[in-house]
Amino acid sequence: NSKPKIVILGAGYAGMMTTKKLMKRLQPEEAEIVLINKHNYHYQTTWLHEVAAGTINHNQARIMIRDIINPNRVRLIYDAVVEVKREEQLVVLENSEIKYDYLVMALGFETNTFGIKGMDENAFFIQDIDSCQLIREHIEYQFAQYKNSEQKDDHSLTILVGGGGFTGVEFIGELAERVPQLCRKYDIDRNIPKIINVEASPSILPGFDEELVAYAKKSLQERGVELKQGTKIQSCTKEGFIVGEGHELIKAGTIVWTGGVTGNSVLGKSGFDLTKGKVTVNSDLRAPGEENIFVLGDCAWVMNEAENRPYPPTAQAAMQHATTCANNIRALLHHEPLQKFVFSDKGTVASLGVTDAMGTILDGTKLYGKPAAAMKKVVDNRYLFLLGGLHLFLKKGKVRPF
Ligand code: FAD
Ligand code: NAD
Repeated sequence: NSKPKIVILGAGYAGMMTTKKLMKRLQPEEAEIVLINKHNYHYQTTWLHEVAAGTINHNQARIMIRDIINPNRVRLIYDAVVEVKREEQLVVLENSEIKYDYLVMALGFETNTFGIKGMDENAFFIQDIDSCQLIREHIEYQFAQYKNSEQKDDHSLTILVGGGGFTGVEFIGELAERVPQLCRKYDIDRNIPKIINVEASPSILPGFDEELVAYAKKSLQERGVELKQGTKIQSCTKEGFIVGEGHELIKAGTIVWTGGVTGNSVLGKSGFDLTKGKVTVNSDLRAPGEENIFVLGDCAWVMNEAENRPYPPTAQAAMQHATTCANNIRALLHHEPLQKFVFSDKGTVASLGVTDAMGTILDGTKLYGKPAAAMKKVVDNRYLFLLGGLHLFLKKGKVRPF
């Protein structure tokens, strides 16, 4: 087989969309396309906080890859990537190896604990479907256990969330809906379980629009969430977080760390030069010095030249990377010039629960409450439509009425 082989690592937003676009842009005889992913499903990373809180079922957030990508057109390999040997143009998987002519690294993020003592051992992470199911089950177990124990420890029902960025805030927003449900299910007084968020910066969502942040705080606090802002987590033990200069212990039965993310560790194992765990890509999204390796999504450090800082890692950006990458692979195959990546900001909307949200859209228009929550569902559903058409939207879309 003399066709060039394009190997895509990771079936997240970037990997799935690159694969779909390549299927459209290339004739089958032009190249062999291989998609490699740890699981046989793609999942909605942007819905993981809902899976972790238990406000949606994990099956709604995952989609079988073969339902979207025709396995007769793209070779699908379900295995974990261990490292890339660039000199040999070889990807090492847990169970096999595969050569490539063109490589797309789209393995997503990993939770970053910044070496905080005890965090890896004692906290849960919002990382993937499995880690989020564990959080959901653990929370529910705490409620069942409390109900069944003779000597009740109220702290066992406290849910402690470290880091008040978008992930932390979206998660506590879901918890504010889930905890009352669990109280009803286990017949427990709503005043006993606590939801506490700890953020080192003076405010949650540091750097985001002040009015929108104020709205988020009010919404969360009114629903019983406690915000400890300007409070740095020093370490984590089995019992909870140790915070602030005074090393105060905040006790909890469930500890979740949402304090930061970095690029997939396969990048480092493969010897790429890293900036905060990611590869600083060229404007055409190739790794520096590499003719045939593209790095996309949360693995890529993409500079916003105008503001001299990197773009935040988002699904929105990952999907746009995919378009540029697919165009550029086609250009390489056709010996044409490569495109520069240009980010088009469609806004940022964060959910605060099932029917509440806030954010900006397109021209910076601010949205609050139900209109924002509706917009968030439109964004989610639009992605499903782009990925798998009407069929996927009807199967997995968010069509719950308010
Ligand atoms: P991912 O979507 O993370 O996909 C990576 C894929 O690689 C996964 O399928 C994974 O299983 C696979 N993989 C990982 N390691 C290996 C390995 N070693 N071998 C094989 N396969 C592997 N962004 C927005 O724009 N809007 C939002 O509303 C939003 N909400 C978010 C909510 C939450 C709770 C979180 C955590 C993030 C949110 N983000 C949001 C950010 C967004 O999810 C990420 O930027 C986006 O997922 C990055 O896409 P990706 O394709 O790079 O990686
Ligand atoms: P983040 O890095 O954006 O936020 C982490 C937060 O944890 C920060 O506010 C930081 O100050 C805090 N923190 C770090 N160390 C701490 C410590 N020791 N003690 C207390 N607080 C500490 O990470 P994230 O929230 O996981 O977001 C990751 C990326 O995903 C971002 O780019 C974000 O834009 C994107 N995202 C977007 C959405 C959305 O658009 N709706 C939702 C979720 C995530």
